[in-house]
Amino acid sequence: MENRNEKWKRLREEYIKKKEAERAEYPDRFTPQWPYELFGIECGDGWKRLYQPIIDYIDEYNKDKADGERIEIHQIKEKFAELRFYTNFYTQELRNLIDKAEEESRHTCEVCGKHIDDPIVEGHWMYAECQECHDEWKRRRQEAVKRMEDKIRQKGKPKQGIVLGIDDAMKKVVDIVTDKLDLTTE
Ligand SMILES: [Zn+2]
Repeated sequence: MENRNEKWKRLREEYIKKKEAERAEYPDRFTPQWPYELFGIECGDGWKRLYQPIIDYIDEYNKDKADGERIEIHQIKEKFAELRFYTNFYTQELRNLIDKAEEESRHTCEVCGKHIDDPIVEGHWMYAECQECHDEWKRRRQEAVKRMEDKIRQKGKPKQGIVLGIDDAMKKVVDIVTDKLDLTTE
């Protein structure tokens, strides 16, 4: 009997094979498969010195490799205030480089690259940012909200939906849903 892990592995391999066959059949209709192809690098410049050595290693490794033997980047991003670097497969050296970069990212501001002791935790969110960069980001966000509010005010009486606070908006949603439920039971 195949366990869950084995099943997941088999399905994943089947999926990859299917996608590879599609790409081979329609090379000129190739569409991006991985986040890296769509979004590029999904973290701040402060981590550049952490992920750049990994990219350099991959470029060097791929130099004399044939199709299908090259390391492909699937995603470079921030998750839980850590750098994540995903590829199609890992050599031991690549694994070591990624582990080292992940470890260092916990103590590096994602925006400016400065050393930080720990990430900033706010509610459910973690930010691998120094206090200065984090405050700056918050200031800009407040400004953006203010600009939006000013715009709404200038346009005269705003529509109800826009001025509702999040609590009021939630109540409204609940009202609508309850209404719907009431209707269906009538
Ligand atoms: Zn910073």
